[in-house]
Amino acid sequence: MSASKPSLLILYCGGTIGMRQDVRTSALQPKLSAEELIEYAPYLTKEFNIRMQTITNLDSTNFQPHHWEEIADAIYREYDNYDGFVVIHGTDTMAYTASALSYALGNLGKPVILTGSQVPPDILGTDAVSNLVNACLAATMDFAEVAIVFGTDILRGNRSMKISESKRNAFISPVFPELGSIRLQPEITYQSIPRRHGGPLDFKNAFKGNVVVLKITPGIHPETISAIVDSKIDGLILESFGPGNIPNRETNLLPPIKKARKKDIPVLISTQCIYGTTRMYLYEVGQSAMDLGVIPTGDMTPEAAYVKLKWALGQTKDGKEIEKIFAKNIAGEVTIPD
Ligand code: ASP
Repeated sequence: MSASKPSLLILYCGGTIGMRQDVRTSALQPKLSAEELIEYAPYLTKEFNIRMQTITNLDSTNFQPHHWEEIADAIYREYDNYDGFVVIHGTDTMAYTASALSYALGNLGKPVILTGSQVPPDILGTDAVSNLVNACLAATMDFAEVAIVFGTDILRGNRSMKISESKRNAFISPVFPELGSIRLQPEITYQSIPRRHGGPLDFKNAFKGNVVVLKITPGIHPETISAIVDSKIDGLILESFGPGNIPNRETNLLPPIKKARKKDIPVLISTQCIYGTTRMYLYEVGQSAMDLGVIPTGDMTPEAAYVKLKWALGQTKDGKEIEKIFAKNIAGEVTIPD
């Protein structure tokens, strides 16, 4: 290894970026190994000291929380040995994994960059090589974030959402500024956390519990939510209307919420508004749910909130403790009002 070149650990997890079309069905399937993928961008190994490590090779639809833990663990073990980390991952659940890594790798002092592609490397017009190269460049830059580099965007991972199954810029960061963008080279424009030399990670790498996310719709039956509460769940996230509004008249959803709280199941209220935040005191239909001891998720993305609850359940089952964790900004995922 040349000491003058930046060193990168690339963790391969699969996704379209490593897929090929099946000759019979034409369905995209995981096919390429990490070593085969890197051959599409041979100049990367000239510019950087790269080590590839395969975590798995999956369509990220099949990702599980234990995969998040395996990636975080690999970074934790090699943390002192590399200047930056790149995680090659499917786009479908990339925002969940990015959120998980941001919580697990507390006190992060180096970039951890997730990327993938919309079009596999063998297909004309692929974005695989440009995304991979930009992710590697970003992983050597002066910032310390778990970020998604995709298309022309550099986004904070736990603020990101996949919003298009086909656009080159597949992700947005709806309520938080972009960290930067890919111009001639990647550029960081937001005042993000600078690289830190030294200082150990605050490593908390357990994601636990059966968490159910349910979208409230006009006419949803309270009995349905009640049945979910009676099933074996450890947490419930209700995606409410507007700033945290929950029906409390004809289809009154307060009784099943009350039941969950009695069982000490944390009930989180998020907003269906992608560009919004919860403000549960604003309307009577928000306050009446608030009075039951629910936890509003503020301006967190649904992905960041879901993963944060599993992370909290990895540490405690105590409702009060979970509330305390949600009152904190752990990794830049939420705006806590003053
Ligand atoms: N289904 C793929 C995945 O998430 C989509 C992609 O990578 O773009 O693995």
